[in-house]
Amino acid sequence: MSLANGRQYLAIPGPSVMPDRVLQAMHRAAPNIYTGQLVDMTASLIPDLKAVARTRHHVAVYIANGHGAWEAALSNTCSRGDRILVLSTGRFALGWAEMATMMGIDVQLVDYGNRSDIDMDQVTQALAADTDHRIKAVLCVQVDTATSVRNDIPALRATMDAAGHPALLMVDCIACLGCDRFEMDDWGVDLMVACSQKGLMTPPGMGFVFFNDKADRARDTANCISGYWDWRPRMDPKAFSNYFCGTAPTHHLYGLRVALDMIVHEEGIEAVWARHAKLARAVHAALETWAQDGPMSLNITDPEKRSHAVTSVRIGAPQGTMLRTWLTEKAGVTLGIGLGMGTPTDPMADGFFRIGHMGHVNAHMVLGTLGAIEAGMTALDIPHAKGGLNAAARVVSEA
Ligand SMILES: *Cc1c(COP(=O)(O)O)cnc(C)c1O
Repeated sequence: MSLANGRQYLAIPGPSVMPDRVLQAMHRAAPNIYTGQLVDMTASLIPDLKAVARTRHHVAVYIANGHGAWEAALSNTCSRGDRILVLSTGRFALGWAEMATMMGIDVQLVDYGNRSDIDMDQVTQALAADTDHRIKAVLCVQVDTATSVRNDIPALRATMDAAGHPALLMVDCIACLGCDRFEMDDWGVDLMVACSQKGLMTPPGMGFVFFNDKADRARDTANCISGYWDWRPRMDPKAFSNYFCGTAPTHHLYGLRVALDMIVHEEGIEAVWARHAKLARAVHAALETWAQDGPMSLNITDPEKRSHAVTSVRIGAPQGTMLRTWLTEKAGVTLGIGLGMGTPTDPMADGFFRIGHMGHVNAHMVLGTLGAIEAGMTALDIPHAKGGLNAAARVVSEA
């Protein structure tokens, strides 16, 4: 018997749940793209995007997913042959590095594996060895969506400052903008990339590159620049005819307007971060309890280093795939697969699941997902300690 009929819940780490209000805002006839409401409304998005990123500087908006935002960031700041230092803590900084290599950029990689955050000592060593300051930029993610680790960005800034190194600090916040606290200006981040379909609760299709004046000076000499990715025409939305290098993403813009209303003007970004922190603690409490017996473990052991947007769990193969399949077919909730945590022939991919708890997520969605996981483990005879759901409910009750 299946109990899946009812509202389906895609609890993966992006695309995330879209509020009905966001969807309704997009349900409209094609607007005039030359003048009028769309033009003014687009300009109104810019201060709110900056409020979410906590920056006074610039943002360029692209019709693109996160990969497009990665390429935009590189093409505006780098030239072929430039060296960049990429600090990899899972899958996503590696993806950004692969894109840089394809563009002719010289990638120096420090790989911290799949279970840890950035070790600052190795950054200090890499920067100290770069005596002639060839490294143009240091790249990392704030949260790796595969491993669910959160890197300490202020500590990375302090490490670069202590080394006296002038490289740009470029951070991928695609997984966690609007979920985990991020303070672009206060933390001294020069460039940050994000996109629409995770914490920003809008369909995939818009990429954002936030950058300061130091990053913009790199644009003066960057020879990787190309017509579409150039951020200069995207610095002033009042020059609307060139702003999107072609037709505007009309309906996405209306959806994003409502999402930013909800985040910035209704709930408030500090409260949004606090909600994500509390719900993440509920998820972690359940998992830690179940993990006291049986094959389950949280991929990141130190609670301080876990993201508030996504949680990666090891459960062993084939239990991971069995549990995910059971949840979709019997309970109507779909969890994320293990990503880049193995190869097709390596059972790691089958031994993993990830819970997305980013964006438009509340207590009953999280508790419902956790309850369904507990039911699934019971149905499939996956050993686990009792009381996980109680532990999560206790965290929620203390809100
Ligand atoms: C989702 C994600 C990406 C890729 O975004 P796409 O929109 O799928 O291209 C990049 N980095 C991180 C950290 C992500 O979570």
